[in-house]
Order: sequence, then structure tokens, then C-alpha cells
Amino acid sequence: MEEKLLSVSSAWKKANYPLVFTGAGMSAESGVPTFRGKDGLWDRFDVEKAAYLQSFLEDPGPFWKMARELVLKKEVNPHQGHRALARLEEEGYLQGIITQNIDGLHQKAGSKEVYELHGSLDKLDCLDCQKKYTWEEISPDVEKGEVNCECGSRKVKPRIVFFGENLPREELDRAFFAAEQCDFLIVVGSSLEVYPAASIPQIAWQRGARMALINTEQGFFPEMFDWVFLDSAERVLVELEKKILGGDQK
Ligand code: NAD
Ligand code: ZN
Repeated sequence: MEEKLLSVSSAWKKANYPLVFTGAGMSAESGVPTFRGKDGLWDRFDVEKAAYLQSFLEDPGPFWKMARELVLKKEVNPHQGHRALARLEEEGYLQGIITQNIDGLHQKAGSKEVYELHGSLDKLDCLDCQKKYTWEEISPDVEKGEVNCECGSRKVKPRIVFFGENLPREELDRAFFAAEQCDFLIVVGSSLEVYPAASIPQIAWQRGARMALINTEQGFFPEMFDWVFLDSAERVLVELEKKILGGDQK
């Protein structure tokens, strides 16, 4: 592992446009369950009912029950891996983070340039009367498993991308543009199964970027990666930060 860490950190330091691409596994050590993989939400929830736009519009209940598991069971905070990425950006070693996560943990850790491909749970809109809510305002209702607007509507929709919905165009374009400049990309905690998000690492790879994967299991497209850490996001990112900022490697 030591040799691999040295090799990755050395490539990272030399890169002109380093990017990180994160998926649900990035937040696992903050206590947020992933969709797929061990103990994933997929095994415990009926995805058709919980995550498809059409189902949400018919009955939002199953979505809120899953959302409660996703972020509300306890206060969710960034772990040291999130913080390492924020410090690396601050020190000029990271151009941005492209994330599939909707939990806001990168920003909470201090990261600035975050492309949220699947939106965020932060803000919500009533689809009937257009009243806006913040997550904080509705979280007591989420705990009860049912969210109602003051107009009586149950269609209070978070600004996240449900299955069957398009990704936010502007955010996606920005992410594609960044991937085209990228010469070093680390994929963290993503099975690379969900499109179009998963095409972003492919763009960087096709443009000749050096590529590293940090994931507890080997996902799709193993051929893309110059380095693979079958390990936890927090552990590896903390070690990489030490190598890059800690001065134990020049
Ligand atoms: P995924 O759930 O499909 O895959 C997660 C991957 O992370 C798995 O391959 C798993 O082996 C790996 N993993 C688990 N724990 C890890 C750890 N500690 N360190 C490193 N890797 C670990 O995730 P995805 O590719 O992001 O796609 C899922 C979709 O679900 C996304 O579109 C996302 O919007 C949504 N989602 C978001 C959250 C969140 O916001 N935190 C959580 C669940 C799902
Ligand atoms: Zn309303």
C-alpha cells in the first residue's frame, strides 16, 4: 500500500487539473448507507416505489421512509476523508469534486467547487403551490415519515434527481467540461453503474487522465484505472493527504 500511495500522491501533485469523482461509498463512513454493495439500501427498500419520480408523485411515503434512513437517523457529519479533500482544494491540489451524492457532506467539510450531479436534499419545493422549504424546516416531518406542505399537498419534492428525471443540465455541462480538462482523476466509492454520471470518469480516461479508484470492491471498468485501492475511502484519502500536504514525500 505504501508504494501505491507514494505513486498516486506523486502523480496527483504533478497534475495540472486533478479532480475527484465521488459516489455513495464516500459517505458510508459518515453513517450514510449506500444503494448497492454490502448493506445497501437496495436490499431493504423497494426501489421502484422509493426512488422513481412517477411513484413519488403517486405516493411520496416510501421515498420519505428511505430518506429517513439515508440522512436523518442521526446527525450526519463529514469524516476525515471529506475533510482531507477540502484541505487539498484549499492548498491548490484539487480543481473540484464531481459527486453523485445528495447529502451535502463535501460542502459541510469545506469543499468549495462541488458539482452535484444528482442535486441535493437541502432545498425542496411544493409542486402544487411552489412554496419553498429547507431540509431543516421539514426534517421533523421526515422523522414521522410524511411531509405535507402548508397548502395540504403531499408533493413536497426535494431538488434531487429521481430515477426517470433528467440531470440538471448546467451542472452536468460543467462536470463534462471539467472532465475534459482533467489529467488526474480519483473515483471514490462509486460502483459506476448509474448514467450519465458514470460517463464522466470515462471522458477523463479517454482524454488520457491518470486514474485511481478507491472502493471497497472492484466496480465496473477496471481497465480504466492505473491504481486501485480496494479499501475504505476515509483511510486512503487521509493517507494521500498526508503524503501530499504532510511533506513526507517530495
Ligand atoms: P452505489 O451505492 O451504487 O455504490 C457505492 C460503492 O461504494 C459500492 O461499490 C461499494 O462497494 C462502495 N463502498 C461502500 N463503502 C465504502 C467505503 N467505506 N469506502 C469506499 N467505497 C465504499 O453508489 P453510486 O455509484 O454513488 O450510485 C448510487 C446512486 O445513489 C447515486 O446516484 C446517488 O445519487 C445515490 N445515493 C446517494 C447517497 C448519498 O448521498 N450519500 C447514498 C446512497 C445513494
Ligand atoms: Zn404547497
